[in-house]
Amino acid sequence: MAQISPLSLSTSTTLRSSFILPTLPQILSELVQNSLDAGATSIACWVDLTKHGETIRVEDDGCGISEEGLKRVGKRFRTSKRLNESGLGPIGCYGFRGEALASIASIALLDITTRTDSSPSTFTKIIKSSKILFRGHSPNRHISSEGGTIITVRDVFHDIPVRREELATSNNATVMMHCKKVVERLSLGWPGVDWSLWEDGREGGAKNVLGIAQNKNRVEVFRALYGNALVQRYQSIRVSSGKRRVDGFISLSGDVSKTHQHLYINNYPVDRGELHLAISKKFAASRFATLASSGKLDEVDDWNARARRSPRRLERHPIYVLNVTLPSSDVDVAYEPRKGLLGYKDLDSVKALLLAVVDEYLRRNDFGPLRARSTTPSPTKISQPSQTAPYLPSPLTTPRTPRFTLALQSSNLPPSPLRPTFRGESLPPAIASDQGDDNCLVHEGTAVPIPNRDEPASKRQRTDSEVYSQCRLGSRPVRKHQWIFDLAGNLDTGVLPTTPRLVSMPEEGSSVLNDVDSEHCRKANEPRRAISLQQPIKAIKTDAQFTKTSLSTAQIIGQVDRKYIAAVLRTTSASSSLVLIDQHAADERVSVETILRELCEGFGSNNVCATKAADGEQMIVLTRAEAEQLSQPAVMGVLRRWGITFKPPDLETEGDYVQVQVEHVPSVLASRLGRKEAAEITRLVRGYLPVLMERMGEVEAMLRSVDGDALPNMEDGIDGRNGLVQQEEERHCGDWGRAMRFMPKEMLELANSKACRGAIMFGDHLTYEQCTRLVDQLSSTQFPFICAHGRPVIAPLVVLGDANTIRSRPAKRKIDWGKWRDVA
Ligand code: ADP
Ligand code: MG
Repeated sequence: MAQISPLSLSTSTTLRSSFILPTLPQILSELVQNSLDAGATSIACWVDLTKHGETIRVEDDGCGISEEGLKRVGKRFRTSKRLNESGLGPIGCYGFRGEALASIASIALLDITTRTDSSPSTFTKIIKSSKILFRGHSPNRHISSEGGTIITVRDVFHDIPVRREELATSNNATVMMHCKKVVERLSLGWPGVDWSLWEDGREGGAKNVLGIAQNKNRVEVFRALYGNALVQRYQSIRVSSGKRRVDGFISLSGDVSKTHQHLYINNYPVDRGELHLAISKKFAASRFATLASSGKLDEVDDWNARARRSPRRLERHPIYVLNVTLPSSDVDVAYEPRKGLLGYKDLDSVKALLLAVVDEYLRRNDFGPLRARSTTPSPTKISQPSQTAPYLPSPLTTPRTPRFTLALQSSNLPPSPLRPTFRGESLPPAIASDQGDDNCLVHEGTAVPIPNRDEPASKRQRTDSEVYSQCRLGSRPVRKHQWIFDLAGNLDTGVLPTTPRLVSMPEEGSSVLNDVDSEHCRKANEPRRAISLQQPIKAIKTDAQFTKTSLSTAQIIGQVDRKYIAAVLRTTSASSSLVLIDQHAADERVSVETILRELCEGFGSNNVCATKAADGEQMIVLTRAEAEQLSQPAVMGVLRRWGITFKPPDLETEGDYVQVQVEHVPSVLASRLGRKEAAEITRLVRGYLPVLMERMGEVEAMLRSVDGDALPNMEDGIDGRNGLVQQEEERHCGDWGRAMRFMPKEMLELANSKACRGAIMFGDHLTYEQCTRLVDQLSSTQFPFICAHGRPVIAPLVVLGDANTIRSRPAKRKIDWGKWRDVA
């Protein structure tokens, strides 16, 4: 191997710079962060995406750079920012690495014009490929404010051919969308700033992409960005615990997507990750997930809630903007160049703080924990009482936890109809003095009490232990199938494992067999045993693995208990196994694949069979921002491929909401999507829009590849599912599997639901021929072993040994299968 020697300075500089600033939006982000660090109250950004002439310009009215300081700009590791004790992090600002401008200067042309408020002159410095092209007084250039800076970046990646090419072929709309997102996310943290973003270089002049005047708080910025609809009622959050603080708001409305969940640590917008997930889980385990309103769309949703059986489809996600302030030494913002992923000294405590805030919000707004986990009811599942997700002990009421100073303030908008018990009540003096001023919720100028834990349970929201114990007491009687016990009691081989367990200690959530005093499992002087299906089952080594061929060559025995089809399947190791095939799950699988295939093949070939929506009267209500997104031709085009078309929205009308007329819906789902009240189609569109906004580039690439028939190279599908799973789906499903990756989640749910409801149910009698036909159809599906909702279709009961042996020596293992039919 050759000797180890240093890289040339230009190589190492370019490599480092392209790592620090890999994209245009990232460059914009660094420039804007510098403006904020400079104390700007007005920041204007121009982005020109003309191919090979890409330019970014940021103008601010901040403190400017002195003549002396300008000399150092463009050199790596030069900063004017305050560093923390360790010198590895900033204090009260974004910058601390002194890398951004130096990196830009090495991979692009950097043009800085600046003036401090104490300087009578304007100075300019121009650097390209780390070489200074000009530095000095620039009387012809003008800074409009007293002091300020204009930074222009062009010729980005001019000497990195691959990046250059990538930029030249990138989709302008996608790049612009990411630039907009950068400004949006930063603007939500800086209400006192006047923001604007312009798309430059267009025919007919620059287009204003975003404009937000100075605001008082984050809610106002939110309204300016996304309209009033989602934050008509909200709670301000101001919580402090020692040196840590949480500020921001949580809306009292919910949303169909997680788009509006903005979390900041020390004003750094953090990417979705563990903290977001913890908050989401807390909300999902509360009644917020099903009760939270969604502005004007409530009426339709409420109507629909009565008609629909699946509570999951009503799920609401919270809308929040929260900034956690931590001591600078507790966070590592240099974790990765984008600063979207941070390191924490004590992540758990940050999480606990946020969850305590969410707990308090939920408690005060009557969104208590769910009594039982809401899942789509399954005809194949015997429901067990589920344990509610426990609240964290409230920092307000539990003295052992550190005390938070909490001030949750409601908006000055009309009170929530969801909280009738609180509305209009005045704070009883006793509670006021008990809890202290910090602990009261101010609503419409009236103080109202926090639920008192000392009150009788009937008067207040129940505690978790109460809810839990009620679940235990109210457990549904379990169903008993004697024939299963008899069978299981006599067998100890095969695929279904039996886990011996003492019965004398009945346990919450134990199996359907636990409460059965069955004789067969009790021998003299032996503790009673039962089979637990819910205990972790030790994997038993068995060669009972099935393939689709196992199904197509199945020996059908007949229907059992009007629920299952008993069959003998060959395993991959040439033995055979007695199995029960869930008749509902099997038929559901067959149906759902028929529906999905039709939709996906139609999407790929752009000819989904569509039906005219209900007499032209089907209207959906979108927020103004959503309607603007929907009216983009690319978005309309993707929806049209799924069989959904609209009349172009009239964006001239005033107000927060826009009505849009649905013209067509896909025929196969018309019974649900075509309903006049339009709840399902509204949910679909509102859920799909943020996804399209985020990943339109990928969808377009996919469509190009479908039209050109080349597989796109994407790590994740549109719904964020694991890339490997999707590749597996594609491998199995071929062309229509490819389109599945981009199907709206809501459409998939509707297909699942339709398949479930139309499928053969438990209790339906099947003739032998029908059993055979169903198993045959199942064998030709792509995923025969799971139903549409992911539950197993086949339950192997016992390995019968070598298939040939069984056939040749039937007498040795004589089984009277006929008796099975009598069991029911
Ligand atoms: P950092 O922000 O980490 O200090 P940068 O390379 O981004 O490093 O910026 C280098 C220095 O240039 C900053 O420390 C700051 O003094 C100065 N600077 C950059 N942009 C501005 C601006 N818009 N207004 C005033 N000073 C600026
Ligand atoms: Mg900086």
